[in-house]
Amino acid sequence: MDLPKTIRVGVADFKVLRKKNPSDGNDNVLGWFKMADQELCVGTRMSDLRQVETFVHELLHCLMNEAGLHEQGNDHGIIDPLTISLMHFLMENDLGWLNKYFKEKWNERYR
Ligand SMILES: [Zn+2]
Repeated sequence: MDLPKTIRVGVADFKVLRKKNPSDGNDNVLGWFKMADQELCVGTRMSDLRQVETFVHELLHCLMNEAGLHEQGNDHGIIDPLTISLMHFLMENDLGWLNKYFKEKWNERYR
């Protein structure tokens, strides 16, 4: 399963790490995110769908912290249902139009 090597969140580029065991010795940890180190990690010992879901989950932690919502961004009572909602949205919608729109806007702006 390919994931991006880096993602930009705010003004920071976050490394996307892949590890068989994201947390050594704890099989329940599927991934993690570290704001200070600008890294997130997604485990590789699960289905592709679960890897994408874990990526989205860690990304939501990252986005909410970047937005200054530190308490909510670390609350799995918020992150877990948002992960499911966003996964469904991403699965059920073709976002090619959005990529096209942003690419055109980017080209207009920085041409
Ligand atoms: Zn989490």
